[in-house]
Amino acid sequence: MKKKYWTIIVGGGPSGMAAALELYRAKKDFILIEKCSAIGGLSKTLIFKEKELEFRTDIGPHRFYTKNDHIDKLVKGLTQEKLLVVKRSTRQFIDGKFFDYPINSKQILKNLGIMMVTHIIVDYFLSVIKYRLLKKPIITFYDYAVANFGKTLANFNIINYTEKIWGMPTNSLSADWAKHRIKGLSLLSVIKKIVEDNLFIKSKSEIKTFVETFFYPEIGAGFIYEQIRNNIERGGYDILLNRYPTKIIHDNYQIKAIQLNVNGDSEVSIGLEYLIESITITDFLNLLYPSPPKHILEAASKLHYRSQVYLFLTIDLPKITEDQWIYFPDKDVPFARISEMKNFSCSMSPLNKTSLLVEFFCNREDKMYNLGKEELFELVLPYLERYGFFKRKDVRKYYKFKGYKDYPIYDLTYQSNLETIKRYLDAFENLYYIGRPGRFEYTSQDQSIEMGVNATKSIINKYENKIY
Ligand SMILES: Cc1cc2nc3c(=O)[nH]c(=O)nc-3n(C[C@H](O)[C@H](O)[C@H](O)COP(=O)(O)OP(=O)(O)OC[C@H]3O[C@@H](n4cnc5c(N)ncnc54)[C@H](O)[C@@H]3O)c2cc1C
Repeated sequence: MKKKYWTIIVGGGPSGMAAALELYRAKKDFILIEKCSAIGGLSKTLIFKEKELEFRTDIGPHRFYTKNDHIDKLVKGLTQEKLLVVKRSTRQFIDGKFFDYPINSKQILKNLGIMMVTHIIVDYFLSVIKYRLLKKPIITFYDYAVANFGKTLANFNIINYTEKIWGMPTNSLSADWAKHRIKGLSLLSVIKKIVEDNLFIKSKSEIKTFVETFFYPEIGAGFIYEQIRNNIERGGYDILLNRYPTKIIHDNYQIKAIQLNVNGDSEVSIGLEYLIESITITDFLNLLYPSPPKHILEAASKLHYRSQVYLFLTIDLPKITEDQWIYFPDKDVPFARISEMKNFSCSMSPLNKTSLLVEFFCNREDKMYNLGKEELFELVLPYLERYGFFKRKDVRKYYKFKGYKDYPIYDLTYQSNLETIKRYLDAFENLYYIGRPGRFEYTSQDQSIEMGVNATKSIINKYENKIY
C-alpha cells in the first residue's frame, strides 16, 4: 500500500467496480477498498460446495437489462459469449392461484371470473375521474397504484406485495418508488400489451416490467464484476478486501485522507486527491472526521432501510419449476419471492440437481431476521410442499444468509432529509458519493455501473481542466 493514491474507491459493488474499470482503462492511479471478503456487493454470486457438487446463487437473482448503449456495450464486452439471453418466465401466486407472466389473458379471465374483471375495469375508470379529471394529487404509493390501476386491481396484486416488501402501509410510502419500479405501467398499458400479444403485434413498449428477455451471465451476475477484477488485477492495480475506513478525514470541504483498519486494531492513514465511495450514506456521514453538523446527522438518522433474509435450498431433483421468479404477494405467506437459479442458467446447479432461493423482507429488529436456518426451513417447507414444488426428502441442504440495509425506504420524508444531506456532501470538491447505498437510491445494477463510469469521467475531466 502506498501513502497516497490519486483516487481511492471505497466499496467494490457494481458502482465501485465500474469506477475502477474506467480508472484502469484511463491508466490512472487508484486503489479499491472493500469491507467484505469478495467484490460484487449486492450483485455478487455465492457458491455453495457440497463435496464435488457446486451450487451457485445470486443474492436475489439479478437479471441484466439496460437502456444505456454505453453500459450495454461495456457489460457485453466484459462477458462476451458467457452472457446468455434468457426468456423471462415469472408467475404470481395470489388467492391460491398461479398467474403467468408474460400475461395470459385467458388464464386471467378463468382465474378472476368476469365479475371481478368488470369490477377492475369500472374501478379503473373511477380512478381516472378522481386522479386525472378532478386532479387529486399523487403523493403516496397508494395514490399512484390506485390512480394507475384502480382500487380493485391495486389491492389484488400491487399494494399487498409492496407492503410486504417495505413492511409499512403504502400511504406512508412516497410515490417516488413507484416511479422507479413501475414507471409507465397502468391498467391501460397492461390491456394494450394483452391485445398486442393476442394479435401477434411486436410491442414497442419501453416499460421495464414488460421486457420479455433479459441478459444473464452463464455463471451468475457476479461474473461481470469478477471480470472487472481480473482486468484490474492483471493491470497491476490493487483491490483490498476485508478492509474498511475507520475515519474519513476532511478539512475545508476537501477529503484529505482515509484512515484504514489493518490487521485487527492497527490503522493506517492514506492520502488522496479524489474519493469515490459507495458506502451506505448514513454510515459514510458517521465516518467523517470532524463530524458533520448536527442537523446533517439528524437528517441521516431519519433515513430508513429494509433488510432481507434468504434461505437457499439445494434439491435432489433435476427441476422444480419453469420459472425464474415466483412472487407471493399474500400476507399469510411468510416469504415474498422464490427463484430457481437453474432457470436463469443451467450452469447455476449441477447436472440433475437444482436449487431454490427463498426471499424474506424484514427489519433488523424483527423476529424473522434472527430466526435460525432450521426454524426458517420449517417455516417455509409446508408451503413449498403444498404448492407441489418438492418434498422434504428431496432437500439436500439449506443455507441462510442475510442482507442489511439492502433497500432504501422512500417514505414521505426521505426526500427532504436526503436533499439536506446532499447539499452538505455536494460542497466537498473531491468527493463522489455513488451507488445504491451511497446515494440512497433504488438502483438496478446497470444504473449503479453508470454512476461509477460517470464519477470517473467527471474526475478525469475535472483534473484535465485544472491542468490546462
Ligand atoms: C434482492 C435483490 C435483487 C436485485 N435484483 C436485481 C436485478 O434483477 N437486476 C438488477 O440490475 N439489479 C438488481 N438488484 C439491485 C443491485 O443489486 C444493485 O443495484 C447493485 O448491486 C448496486 O450496486 P452498488 O455498487 O451501488 O451497491 P452495492 O452492491 O451495495 O455495493 C456496495 C459495496 O460497498 C461495500 N461497502 C459498504 N460499506 C463499506 C465500507 N464501510 N467499507 C468498504 N466497503 C464497504 C459493500 O460491501 C459492497 O460491496 C437487486 C438487489 C437486491 C437486494
